[in-house]
Formats: sequence, C-alpha cells, structure tokens
Amino acid sequence: MEKYLSQLNDAQLAPTIQKDGPMIIIAGAGSGKTRVLTYRIAYLMDQGVDSFNILALTFTNKAAKEMKGRIADIVGDSEAKNLWMGTFHSVFAKILRFEGHHLGFPSNFTIYDTQDSQKLMGSIIKEMGLDKDIYKTKQIYSRISSYKNSLITVKAYFKNPELMEADAMARRPKMGEIYKEYVDRCFKAGAMDFDDLLLRTNELLTRFPNVLAQYQNRFRYILVDEYQDTNHSQYLIVRALADRFQNICVVGDDAQSIYAFRGANINNILNFQKDYDGVKMYRLEQNYRSTKMIVGAANSVIEHNKTKLDKIVWTANDVGEKVKVHRSLTDGDEGRYVASTIWETKMNKQLHNSDFAVLYRTNAQSRAIEDALRKRDIPYRIYGGLSFYQRKEIKDVTAYLRLILNPSDEEALKRVINYPARGIGQTTIDRLVVAANGYGKTIFEVIQNIDNLDLKINNGTKNKLKDFVTLIESYQVMNQTANAFDLAEHVTKTSGLIRELNKDGTPEGVTRMDNVQELLNGIKDFVEGQIELADAGDSLAEFLEDVALATDLDADKGDPDHVALMTIHLAKGLEFGHVFIVGMEEDLFPSAMSMNTRSELEEERRLFYVALTRAEKQAYLTYTLSRYRWGKLIDAEPSRFIEEIDDEYVDIVTPLKEQRFNPMLDESIFGDIEPNRVRFAKPKVAKMPKKTTKSKPENFKISAPKKMKPVAKAESASESYDEKLVVGAKVNHQRFGRGEVIKIEGKGADAKAEIKFQKGETKKLLLRFAKLQVL
Ligand code: ATP
Ligand code: MG
Repeated sequence: MEKYLSQLNDAQLAPTIQKDGPMIIIAGAGSGKTRVLTYRIAYLMDQGVDSFNILALTFTNKAAKEMKGRIADIVGDSEAKNLWMGTFHSVFAKILRFEGHHLGFPSNFTIYDTQDSQKLMGSIIKEMGLDKDIYKTKQIYSRISSYKNSLITVKAYFKNPELMEADAMARRPKMGEIYKEYVDRCFKAGAMDFDDLLLRTNELLTRFPNVLAQYQNRFRYILVDEYQDTNHSQYLIVRALADRFQNICVVGDDAQSIYAFRGANINNILNFQKDYDGVKMYRLEQNYRSTKMIVGAANSVIEHNKTKLDKIVWTANDVGEKVKVHRSLTDGDEGRYVASTIWETKMNKQLHNSDFAVLYRTNAQSRAIEDALRKRDIPYRIYGGLSFYQRKEIKDVTAYLRLILNPSDEEALKRVINYPARGIGQTTIDRLVVAANGYGKTIFEVIQNIDNLDLKINNGTKNKLKDFVTLIESYQVMNQTANAFDLAEHVTKTSGLIRELNKDGTPEGVTRMDNVQELLNGIKDFVEGQIELADAGDSLAEFLEDVALATDLDADKGDPDHVALMTIHLAKGLEFGHVFIVGMEEDLFPSAMSMNTRSELEEERRLFYVALTRAEKQAYLTYTLSRYRWGKLIDAEPSRFIEEIDDEYVDIVTPLKEQRFNPMLDESIFGDIEPNRVRFAKPKVAKMPKKTTKSKPENFKISAPKKMKPVAKAESASESYDEKLVVGAKVNHQRFGRGEVIKIEGKGADAKAEIKFQKGETKKLLLRFAKLQVL
C-alpha cells in the first residue's frame, strides 16, 4: 500500500480508495473530510487518472492551494500542476474565458466585484428616477443576487407573478425593471458579476450541449468540499458536469451549513442519494483536531438543533481543558482579556501568535480587539472586510487596466474618465450614459464617434473626451507588446495618477502611494511567476482575474506569525490551537436578525458549532455586560449558547473582581472615567464616554512586530540596502519566505541579489521590486 494511505484510518481509507462512482461523505467537524479529498486526488493520480481529468472545488482558493501543495508533496510538482482546483467562482471564470463567446461575451470580460455591481445599480436607480430610500442599493443587490443564485433570470422573473407581487408588496414594483436594466448594462459592458459566473456557466452548459459534453469528458472525476454550503446554481453545475461519468465525490457536514442566508441549500446534501444511482455513503466519526472537552462541548451544543442528521463525533485526543467562559464589563475589557490571555499563554506555553485566533459574529467587533492587541504589541491580521484590491487607489489603477482590456467596461470608464481631473464633469458623463443607452453603444464607442453624433456637449469638452480615448488607445497599443508590469507602471505615471497621489502629502496620501507601489510589486511578482512557469499568457487579463476573485483569505501578506481575526463565517474549514469566540451575547450571537424562526436560530447555532470546532487545544468564550452597538451603549446578556453547553465541559473563569486595572494599558481607552468605577461597578449608560467614530476595520492591517526592522521601501532601496543587504544577510520575502543572500550584483536601480530561500529555491531578484525585509 502506498505510504501516504497509512496516514488514514480505516473509515477514511474506504472512500479514499473507492476510485469510481458517486459517493458522499457526511461527517462532523475535524474528522478528516478535507484530508480524504486531498488523499483521494493523490490516489486517483496514482491509479493512472490523468490530472487533467480531475476537478476539485473548494471553499476558498487558499484551501485549494494548500491541498495542491499537499498533493504535490505526494505525487510530485509537475503532476499536480495540471489539476483544476479552486472555488466555483475561479474555476468557472476560467471556463467562461474560453467559452463565454457562445453567450456573446468577449474573452476578456470584466468581473464586476460587489462594489462595481452596487455602483451600477445605484446609477440605474438614479437614472430611473426612483426613490433611493425605498430602492436601497444593498437590498436590491442582494435580491438580484438571490434571483441569480436560484437561476431566476429576468425572463423567468417576469413570468413569475408571485415574485413580482412580493416585490410590489415590499414597495418595490420596479424591481424587475431594475433587474433587466442591470443585466443589459452588464452585458453591454462585457462584464459579469460574481453571481453571473455561476449563472452564465449554467446557461452555457444548458444551451450548448457540445460544450457540456466537452467538459463532462474532461472532468471525469469531480470532488467538492463543504458541499453543505453549495447553492442551487452550484449544485446544478456539478450535477451537469458529473452526469456522464458519475465519478463524483462530495464531502460535507450538515451541522456546519452556515450560508443559507446567501442561498446555500442543505437539501443538496440530503438529496444527493436521489440524484445519482448507487451512491455510496460514508461516515467518519473520529475527530483528530480537538480535545475531548471541545468535542464534548460542540456535540452538546448541536444537540439542541432539531433539524440534523444523526452523527457521532468522538476523539482519542487528550481530555484537555474545559471551555473557558469569561465575563467583562465592556468590550474594551473584553479586548484586554483576550490580549492578556494570548500574551500569557504564549509565554507560558512557548507558542506562536499564529496559534491563536479571535472569531466574532460581525466585523465591527474587531476594533476593540485590535486596540488591545496593538497595546500589547501582539501582531495580528484582520481577514475579511475591505480587501486590498477594493481600496480606492487600487481600484483606480485597476480600472485603467480593465479599460485597456475591455473598453466597454462602463464602471471602469466612469471611475477614471475624470480621475485625475480632466475637466469632464458629471453632467457630461450623464449625457454620455444617456447617449450610449439611446444608441445601443458603449460609452467608449460614443466618444470615439462623438463628432458624428448630435450631443449637447461643447467642443472644448469634446476634445477632452477625445484625448481620454486616445490615451486609453495608446495603452492598448502598448499592451500588445509590453508585459503587465511595464504597462501598469507606465499607466500610473502617464495617466497622472502618481502625480495626483504625490500632491497629497498627508499620512493617508503616503499610504495610498505605498499601496499603489505594492500593487505594482504584486504585478511584478505575478509576471515573474509566469515567466518561471513558462506560462507567459495574457498576463494582464490573468492578473485582473486573480484580482477580481481574490478574497482576503487568499492573500499571503506580511509576517506569517500573527494572531488571526475573522468572522466565524470565514473561519470555516480552518483550525487554530487556541480560539477566542468573543461577543457571546444575546442579540449579537445569536444575532438579533436571526431569531425570528427556528430555522434561523438553528443556523446561528450551527455557526456556533463551527466556531467551537475550530479549536484544537482550548476554546474561550467571552461576553460583556454592556456594549456599544449602533452608537449606543446597551446592556447585554450572555448568549443562550453558553448555557447550552453541558456543565461538564465549561469552566466559568470570570473573576468576581474584574481584571486588574492597569493604567499603562487602560488610560487612553477610558479617557475621563475613573478607574474604580470601571473596575467594580456596572457603568451607567449616561456616564460612559461616547466613542468617537467607529472606525471600520481596515484590511491587511498588520501591527508591526517589534523584532522586525522596517521594510526597505522600493524607492529608497539602494540607500538602505547598501548598508544591510550584504552577502550572508538573512532576509524575508513576502512570497518566498525567509532566505539568505548569497550574491549581490549591480548597483542602484539595477541591483540584484541572489537569495537562497529556506524552501529550497534560489532566486535572483531585482532589489527595486523585491521589497525584502532584512532580518
Ligand atoms: P472541517 O469539518 O472543519 O472542515 P474536516 O473534516 O475537513 O474538518 P480535516 O481538516 O481534514 O477535517 O482534518 C482535521 C485535522 O485532523 C487536520 O489537522 C488533519 O490533518 C487531521 N487528521 C485527519 N485525519 C487524520 C488521521 N487519520 N491521522 C492524523 N491526523 C488526521
Ligand atoms: Mg474540511
């Protein structure tokens, strides 16, 4: 038997080596579902299945990358390279690049992210003269998204009186028209939103049997992780592709289904046996992740759900420590408890920051935790929220790049036509939009033909518009020969973007400039990576696709040794030694918005089950007696979920006297409140200081770890490198990790270093771009 198979127990081995036929593995958290999928892929390849014929769909691209790495360890790099693995969105975006022309989309179609989609909806609502307080963009967005995920096209919508009636009852009778206009505009712009990537794939596979046959024939073995969270659209894609060979293996846990609010359908698991003939059903019962205490606590919680499949989860791991429950007075206290506990545990047990995670129900909760971690100099990273690529300055640059590839891209055009300012006003843009809609042309085409059209735009402005189009056209010419990096750098300089950012000398302006530089570094890395793989395809198109689909979880930035902060939703499938679940309060968790029906409450409970089962060694639950929510201080009550854990697994650690007051740490947070009141008394609402702006958690914020020297900036590279970057110096590279300098060549802007990385590779890097940290 192959050596790696001995790393599975018997129950795991059986599905791993069942080569053919449909199968489903239903099993509790931490029982090795993802491991089975991984090993199964390696096994299939061992059995002679061509890696080209395997498709694996995961919940995040990061999970796919890790799986691929593991498979490469077993079967070798070159074999693993051809595997198609990734999220539904990234895999089908690739397929649509090849096949989208059947549906009338260009191969370089743009992917609209949520921000682009909502902007477009906002302008449609405005153009239609609708009341934006009734037609709220976000609500319209999620409504249209749910139509798409249920495969309700515009045509289907207008054939469904119930849906139309429901929208009319919700005072939105124009919903269907907005939907139609939105779809038309996306089509005209050569753009797909996230939901389209699934919807259009379904359309493609349904309308074009030849295309379907081609991909059925290609993907002879299909594997799906986290199957419980697939929506109807995803379900249909999988079913269509697997229909011919029926070699389909799905794994999931009904107790971890947490995306019903976004259309995930737990019935996809329950009905699997009906969909295919001769389905083999496997169960895994042994949990390898967590201690007995954690497994016991999680089991006792999920027992409270009525709707569930009966499952056994047990573990042979250590008993471990009970789940610790801690009460605080305020969210500031809660943050300090988390930070000090991490600090102490790290010291006492000699652990890394990355052994800890803080999970919360809503993004807004991260701020108090961040403050406390920062005060203790504990490096952390926030996952989720606004991703790097959604920042304004980054979107501005990528909008130029998108426009070069796809001049029909309306959102990209509107974003940069007058940024940096070129004297093209909003009225002109509105007129262009109206003209484009009227003539059935794109805005870009309207401008190209502006001299032949009868528009109320004066000649001066017309010239400015023509200059803009000429500028973009000149970039298009350059794109035919230059690589993505050279092009992007040229665009930032010649469009005036850099000049614009340079004008702003504020710290925020400097950060924005750094971010643009960081983006350019990213493109450089990407281009170099392609050259290494001898895969220099259309680098710009591929880079932009990666950008559009990058979730924050996927980006590996900064020092890897950090505490992870994220919502529970994002933590699915992950594991950490020590897990804090904060904000365990009624109305927060379970959320006030999810307590109307039993099924909503049960979904919250499953979410709690997911949170608890992320912990390997120790879980902490914290709650506070008062918390700022929606700008007001409110009394809070402990979450019902705490009580639902059997007593034998819980340890109430809250001291009668709250945490000792430490003026060094606490003063700045409490401002004018006397320490005694904070310490012993439940604070009165009126006397608490108003918190100023609840700053949104910014992404990629990594508090600088003390031991690191500051990153050498690309621009000042030669100066700082000359001093520290010598042969023998230890360095850290964002992508390649740690290494040692073995040679230095050239000077100034051309200086290069040859570095032997710990991962085994030796690379020659241009210092101007490498952004090395000298350790
Ligand atoms: P989740 O439901 O949270 O996604 P899962 O069922 O996918 O969990 P895995 O992540 O595959 O579980 O496994 C949980 C942990 O247990 C991982 O660290 C994995 O490496 C380890 N593990 C799984 N099976 C075994 C085994 N047979 N021997 C040793 N370790 C194992
Ligand atoms: Mg898993």
